Amino acid sequence: MKKSIVIELIISLTVMLFAVLFVACDNTVRHNDGEHVYSFYSDEIKHFEECVCGDTKNEEEHTFDENGICSVCGYDKYLIYELREDGQSYRVEIDRDAINGISCYVFNVPDTFKGLPVKEIAPSGFRDSHANKITTGKNVETIGSSAFERSSVKEIVFSESVKTIESYAFCNTSLENLTLPQSVAEIGRYAFDNCVLLESVAGGENLERIGEGAFKNCKTFKGIEKAVNIRNFGKEAFAGCSSLTEICLEKAEYIGEGAFMDCNSLESVSLPSTLKETGVQAFSGCTSLKAVYIADGVESVSWRSFENCTALTDVELPESLLEIGGYAFRRCSSLESVNIPDSVKKVGGHAFGDCTSLSDVRLSRKLQEISSSMFSGCISIEKITLPTAVLSIGDMAFSGCSGLKEIKMSANLRYINRYAFEGCTQLSSTVLPASLLRIDIYAFRNCENLNSVIFENIKGWAVYSDSDTFDGTAVSEDNMSNPAVMAQALKGEYLNLILKRATAE
Ligand SMILES: [Zn+2]
Ligand SMILES: [Zn+2]
Repeated sequence: MKKSIVIELIISLTVMLFAVLFVACDNTVRHNDGEHVYSFYSDEIKHFEECVCGDTKNEEEHTFDENGICSVCGYDKYLIYELREDGQSYRVEIDRDAINGISCYVFNVPDTFKGLPVKEIAPSGFRDSHANKITTGKNVETIGSSAFERSSVKEIVFSESVKTIESYAFCNTSLENLTLPQSVAEIGRYAFDNCVLLESVAGGENLERIGEGAFKNCKTFKGIEKAVNIRNFGKEAFAGCSSLTEICLEKAEYIGEGAFMDCNSLESVSLPSTLKETGVQAFSGCTSLKAVYIADGVESVSWRSFENCTALTDVELPESLLEIGGYAFRRCSSLESVNIPDSVKKVGGHAFGDCTSLSDVRLSRKLQEISSSMFSGCISIEKITLPTAVLSIGDMAFSGCSGLKEIKMSANLRYINRYAFEGCTQLSSTVLPASLLRIDIYAFRNCENLNSVIFENIKGWAVYSDSDTFDGTAVSEDNMSNPAVMAQALKGEYLNLILKRATAE
């Protein structure tokens, strides 16, 4: 062995000598300054330095420390390498057979293997392993999917070369903190899902996309330090991050379903004009959220966006808004006032249902329908004016509004639907406009104090049983013109009947 090394050495020295003497002109091409340029080279057994011209030096066997890492070149004997599809680089993973029974927790992904860059942590490469601390070499670009899933990883030191963190990469680990290199633009789906000890992520200035569930249920997670450029927040990206106090949405273009659901430490959000809609269920259950600012340009407050935001007091809706989705502000029990701008044409069912502190409501002049249960259970509304565009009041629209004393109906109102005012116990009188065509069953059920219902049009009314097809029984104009009689009838005799007015058509 030793003899052959000596012989090799002599041969290589001789070759070098000849090279220097006779191939000097060739060398000036390969080496700018005429000197060799060495890079480290290692394989399973040895490390050495090699120049682009083929010259080598310092060849010796690895000297492994207690973690199986060569103290000279950093080669880790508990890792195995696979040539990637490009034939020009390697992916690496833990050598499960070699490490079996050995308590080794520290891993070192070297820059190169057999002279080629190590560019990838293999998919599932350290999955379920006891890897505790990992340092990636300076060529690693990709952390493969499930690379560290359910492993013991507590600490990972990324090199600046890392670009992609794929799906489930660190999911269900005890990772405590992390620094994202500037090169990372995207975090894959569920990459840090359920990392309950992950407190902080440093860096992130170039992050643009957060995948679905990427930080879901990271209960101690406080945020990504420099992430001010995120455009795309995937579905449930930060759902259940109950320690998250702040998030920069300045560049947001898309917020996925439930992206910030149950982030119950989040206190305020500012949604930029780059967004079209606020995101389905995006902030629902954010029980500390006090203020929501929505910039001009946003067109829709999505379905259930702010449902159960029980601390919400301050909501600013822009003039660009066209629609407020169903359940959007349901159970926002601290919300006292809302101004729905005139640009809004549609407000979905239950949008403000059970907003028990809501007292000051200003509706859009373009609104044609008070949707079903839109204000049901809003016990603090005392007075409301329906804009003239309103044609119908939906099922249970004001049911349980036990504080409602005064409602100014729209001059164009045609339909009052089922249970519309059920349980409006303070309502004593109302004026129904001449345009009204129909009052559905139970519309005024349990309106204990209702004693005056004025019909502005007393002609052509009849009561119908539950089915529209039966012939109605005409109501006399005498009765129709008696507010006290009509109030009593609507609460009793006509309770489960439909009151309809025949029209020319
Ligand atoms: Zn050279
Ligand atoms: Zn070595």
